[in-house]
Amino acid sequence: MEIACLDLEGVLLPEIWVKFAEATSIAELKATTRDIPDYDELMTMRLGILDQHGLGVNEIQEVIATLSPLEGAADFLNWLRRRFQVVILSDTFYQFAGPLMNQLGNPTLLCHNLEIAENGRVVGYKLRQRDPKRQSVIALKSLYYRIIAAGDSYNDTSMLEEAHAGILFCPPQNVIDEFPQYPVATNYDEFRAEFIKASERDISLD
Ligand SMILES: [Mg+2]
Repeated sequence: MEIACLDLEGVLLPEIWVKFAEATSIAELKATTRDIPDYDELMTMRLGILDQHGLGVNEIQEVIATLSPLEGAADFLNWLRRRFQVVILSDTFYQFAGPLMNQLGNPTLLCHNLEIAENGRVVGYKLRQRDPKRQSVIALKSLYYRIIAAGDSYNDTSMLEEAHAGILFCPPQNVIDEFPQYPVATNYDEFRAEFIKASERDISLD
């Protein structure tokens, strides 16, 4: 049996912090690991900004509920879930992704948790484990599943490497250049075609 492991942001959803920054007009929240490579420093800054603006988990979820998955993402995911068991492996937080996952039919999601105080204030964050995407693929392989993994960015490359087959979806050019061993899909039709190629079963006629 095969499991499809999919990244979330950049594959099915827009980059959530960037969209949240746009929705709230808080420009500093657009910073990513490209601007501040130290993830702990970046998250500490983000949580400080949320505090300054009086944004707790309830306000965050209200804003995020107004966002939408990428165009075509829900149809693609339905197609994939008819052919594979699908597990979403993401570095986002449940409190961020939750409202958008409803719009995707709530597939299985393994990601991280924000620490929320009783009054809704975001007081910290908890990463599930180190290198969580690779570790998740290792765990699923230990159950004797064949894994096809797909993502768009650097933080996906360790799970692509660990999987039996890997696919890049709309990656930036530097990722294409550094990881030429993976096929690249630039839209959902090409993405379906790459999954058909990567599968050991004939899933094209289902
Ligand atoms: Mg991504």
